[in-house]
Amino acid sequence: MNIQIACIPGDGIGPEIVQEAKKVLDRVCEKFGHTIEYTDVLMGGASIDAYGVPLTQETVDICRSRAAVLMGSIGGDAATSPWYKLPPDKRPEAGLLAIRKALGLYANLRPAYLFPELAASCPLAAKEGGRNFDLIIVRELTGGLYFGERWTKDIDGVMTAQDTLRYNENEIRRIIRTAFEIAQKRRKKVTSVDKANVLDTSRLWRKIAAEIAQDFPDVAYENMLVDNCAMQLVRDPEQFDVIVTENMFGDILSDEASMITGSIGMLSSASLNETSFGLYEPSHGSAPDIAGKGIANPIATILSAAMLLRYSFALTAEADAIENAVKKTLADGFRSADLMPKTDDAEGLTKVNCREMGDRICERI
Ligand code: NAD
Repeated sequence: MNIQIACIPGDGIGPEIVQEAKKVLDRVCEKFGHTIEYTDVLMGGASIDAYGVPLTQETVDICRSRAAVLMGSIGGDAATSPWYKLPPDKRPEAGLLAIRKALGLYANLRPAYLFPELAASCPLAAKEGGRNFDLIIVRELTGGLYFGERWTKDIDGVMTAQDTLRYNENEIRRIIRTAFEIAQKRRKKVTSVDKANVLDTSRLWRKIAAEIAQDFPDVAYENMLVDNCAMQLVRDPEQFDVIVTENMFGDILSDEASMITGSIGMLSSASLNETSFGLYEPSHGSAPDIAGKGIANPIATILSAAMLLRYSFALTAEADAIENAVKKTLADGFRSADLMPKTDDAEGLTKVNCREMGDRICERI
């Protein structure tokens, strides 16, 4: 297969971690007899520096013309970067919201998986038999509060602000269906999360979820209120397989889910549209505090590249090969700085930099 993807290295550690993900993709393509071509484009702060805006039409067009996009991360240090002196709609993050909308990326998938080798990093209380969770959050990404009408104005001398939370049944239907389809390929359980005891949008959400569930009799289905879900993720994350929820709830719950793994540098994500097109990026940000030092953990981006092969190209064996190589590299004791134990218990572990971590993973493919 000839794989053609766009790449957005981005800002901060973005270029460093994307370089390692490309190296791993090159290796897996070599092994499985594929060719791969990358077209690099700018977005976020790098685009502001080059073109004065965080996202250009050219970047959108190039991304759209490829089957998938691999991204590092964008943004800078809000306290020191000149990008944050610009109006909100000209800042790096505005580019991210705009590209999601322009490419119709309505489904954001964020796995939260506890690697057994990193179980000691999990901040949750120990559990008999050890912690062992593997869940995925499917978040609606192009509707809800973040895209509704909003305003701030003076009403009779009182500053007042309003945001609008709106969903239609079609937006709900497609994300719920995506979640059930993913569950069919996993442990066959969907938890639909809402606030149906208060919100109309949630009551519509729940009604549509129940309808879709009937089309998937092989998948177990339950509803959960978002406040309870936030609690259950900390109490017993093992109970979840696929969690599906609306934009803002998903934003918050997916950050919570990623933190219970204890290792932000490990978590991948995919944002998909109605075709097999997707944008793949690590869950973490551009880490300006360590940018340029060569010590970033590239694994989240490498695992995002595996998701790219799995979801946009249906290359299951190739994606498995990357994921297994990451597990083997960890099992062999290689750790980036963020994964080194804070205590003195580093026996059998070898600290590696960003480039070396990419090399060790390539060697195991
Ligand atoms: P961050 O995720 O960049 O960093 C939080 C902490 O985790 C830092 O100490 C950082 O050094 C560390 N860290 C993150 N990724 C790491 C990695 N791969 N290896 C080792 N350590 C890593 O979050 P932040 O500091 O709140 O945000 C920094 C910038 O990133 C901001 O401009 C923010 O808007 C942006 N951001 C972008 C995205 C995106 O591109 N999708 C997502 C989140 C944040």
